[in-house]
Amino acid sequence: MADEVVRQDGIGSPDQLERLWTPYRLAYIRGESKPSSSESHECPFCRIPKLDDEAGLVVHRGETCYVVLNLYPYASGHVMVCPYRHVPEYVDTTDEEAVEMAELTKKAVTAIRQVSQPEGFNIGMNQGVAGGAGIAAHLHQHVVPRWVGDQNFMPIIGGTKTFPQLLADTRRLLADAWK
Ligand SMILES: [Zn+2]
Repeated sequence: MADEVVRQDGIGSPDQLERLWTPYRLAYIRGESKPSSSESHECPFCRIPKLDDEAGLVVHRGETCYVVLNLYPYASGHVMVCPYRHVPEYVDTTDEEAVEMAELTKKAVTAIRQVSQPEGFNIGMNQGVAGGAGIAAHLHQHVVPRWVGDQNFMPIIGGTKTFPQLLADTRRLLADAWK
């Protein structure tokens, strides 16, 4: 069972770090929803809302924006808040989208606090490739829970990040906490 390959669809920007998954139990992750390679130009932030919550790691769906777990999290519970519309920059949002992005960001912090009691947060948007956006064409706001000392030696020493929960478990915990 430990050698079984699991595949999770989702959104994120790969980096050079390996992820060391340390689940307390083996979670079941569905692999049938992986993107078809012929659709490489399709925007993942536009594609994910068409999947069901579990397959796309969607935590919450609002009227104009939704909340999704990052497939390559900086920390366990790292989510992104983004409009459904394919717009690249914050200034491109409608008033309704900007208000709901703010509301969902606040609710994400509350839900993450309830689930994992982080000691701090990083919240923000990377605008454009120069600003560090992995998927610059579609606006998204990161909400990253932080703990004192959380990144202090594993990523540096081993090129490895550790996560106590699999993404599917994290998504379920956050979705439940949202209600
Ligand atoms: Zn898009």
